Amino acid sequence: MISEPDTRTLAALLDWYREMGVDAAVANETVDWLARGDTSPGQGFRWPGIDAPARSPEPARTPAAAPRAPASPAAPRAPAPLTRAEPQRAFTPAAPDAAETAARAIARAAGTLEALEAALARFDGCGLKATAKNLCFYRGAPGARVMVVGEAPGRDEDIEGRPFVGRAGQLLDKMLAAISLSEKDVHITNVVYWRPPGNRTPTPQESQVCRPFLERQIELVRPDILLLLGGAAAKQVLDVADGIMRIRGKWRTIDSGGRTLKVMATLHPAYLLRTPAAKRLAWRDLIAVRAALDAK
Ligand code: URA
Repeated sequence: MISEPDTRTLAALLDWYREMGVDAAVANETVDWLARGDTSPGQGFRWPGIDAPARSPEPARTPAAAPRAPASPAAPRAPAPLTRAEPQRAFTPAAPDAAETAARAIARAAGTLEALEAALARFDGCGLKATAKNLCFYRGAPGARVMVVGEAPGRDEDIEGRPFVGRAGQLLDKMLAAISLSEKDVHITNVVYWRPPGNRTPTPQESQVCRPFLERQIELVRPDILLLLGGAAAKQVLDVADGIMRIRGKWRTIDSGGRTLKVMATLHPAYLLRTPAAKRLAWRDLIAVRAALDAK
């Protein structure tokens, strides 16, 4: 049983974590990264309680709340004991700019969606891969007049390895059906291809690193219309700073592989699930998409 002052201390600690942007636990114990120099997941480092042991384990680690000895870069801690075996995932801790440059070269070399997916599966420049279960590339048709871009895979998507298969995806399917589009008419993907821990919004760096793959995917799918779901997708594709309420409902264009695509941003289905009154705005945007398809 936790005593009264301890409860307050723990609540304050959790508040502080949240303010610092920590919104999910990815392992059973905290990790002092400063004590590990440049080591990152998969690079000789193993998550306590998650990854399989590399060599002989050392005695149990100090609990998170207990005082720590000062970190010594010259003497990094040995890996902690492990409880659950998982395949170790390789992970390259490249700076976002370097990772984006590498991603651009790799993505450009992919001549088909299959090659692009294989390249993504091998790519270690996005940190999200370290905590995700599966790569979520696309669902729907390989070539489609409408390409839908969401924010990031969630829990259900991570388990299935396909975008928009959870509750938001079911609403998306209904929204598309309302303008006579089914899975065979659309290509559905996300700004990032791996689930962010705790379903947080992808960081600008994570989006930046995945961007060359998304751009290449758009070139390969060759849609007439891009439908962007929510602020993260709109910001990533249109490179604008405004919020989704300002961006949505207006046609814009982007160039892709020598073609000009029409782009419509609308509200994310996850937002519509929380805010049903906003569905009428999304409905207007979808009617505009249907009209543009019928006009061509
Ligand atoms: N939300 C998204 O943005 N993408 C998904 O794939 C699922 C939920």
